[in-house]
Amino acid sequence: MTEILFLGTGASIPSRDRGLPAMAVRSGREIVLFDCGEGTQRQMMMSPMSFMKIKAIFLTHLHGDHFLGLPGLLLTMGLSGRSDPVRIVGPEGTGELLGNILSSCGDSLPFDMLITEAYGGETFRISDCSVTAFPTEHGVPSVGFIFSEDDKVGIDARRAAEMGVSATDIKLIKGGEVVNGVSSDDIISGTVKGIRIVYTGDTLPCEEVRSASMGADVLVHEATFGSDETEYAEKHNHTTSAQAAAIAKECGVRILVLNHVSNRYRDRAPLLEEAAKIFPETIVAEDFMHLMVTRKEIRSV
Ligand SMILES: [Zn+2]
Ligand SMILES: [Zn+2]
Repeated sequence: MTEILFLGTGASIPSRDRGLPAMAVRSGREIVLFDCGEGTQRQMMMSPMSFMKIKAIFLTHLHGDHFLGLPGLLLTMGLSGRSDPVRIVGPEGTGELLGNILSSCGDSLPFDMLITEAYGGETFRISDCSVTAFPTEHGVPSVGFIFSEDDKVGIDARRAAEMGVSATDIKLIKGGEVVNGVSSDDIISGTVKGIRIVYTGDTLPCEEVRSASMGADVLVHEATFGSDETEYAEKHNHTTSAQAAAIAKECGVRILVLNHVSNRYRDRAPLLEEAAKIFPETIVAEDFMHLMVTRKEIRSV
């Protein structure tokens, strides 16, 4: 099971009900964060996920609304006694930016930062998952990310029950052990595809997003504007909700989440309506929206 927690779903400036972009994904015990807008650490403190468990932070681009929460988050992690390293991945310029931020804060952190600049195509392993960067189009160096769980071994539950295999035994058998004469050959049936989540960050609708999103389970696409502002969206390198829906339809994703909504849309209904006409399986991200994603269902908790 993979969980997605939306911590900030607004664009450019925060509002009473929308923080700046940040989305946490938890699979097993690991948490990864996509973007880190101002206020992300407080949003996490008010959420069911601990900021101390963040293993890696992926920044889509270096516009302030997407990274200004990072210095405060890192300093709080340090003051809270973190010693585990944090991986930080971002576009060209990320290393210099972090160096400048931390030197002007005048603090040294008690943990290592593993900083990598991504241009598209790089893959980062995090336990049983991986995160792959792909290029996007936003007028500045920018990348989106694909979060992928590893495929898992499928278990024939009925057969396992008939053979009296317990849940603990299944774990051992999956690991290659023979328990009470039962081996993996007796209860394994095919593979279960891992969950795939695509997070675009800010971008124009583009080919790279399309290829990254083919067959994804969840597409979290920016939809800063509605179709009433199509030209304005293009001029500022953003996407409209209808354009995001067209991509979701073309790519056959299971669900589309419209994210990074401009403050000018107090009422999100028109954005949702225009997208749902094209791709019905659409929702609009809200701060603290928490999704559970399994092969069987995607539901809000
Ligand atoms: Zn933005
Ligand atoms: Zn931007």
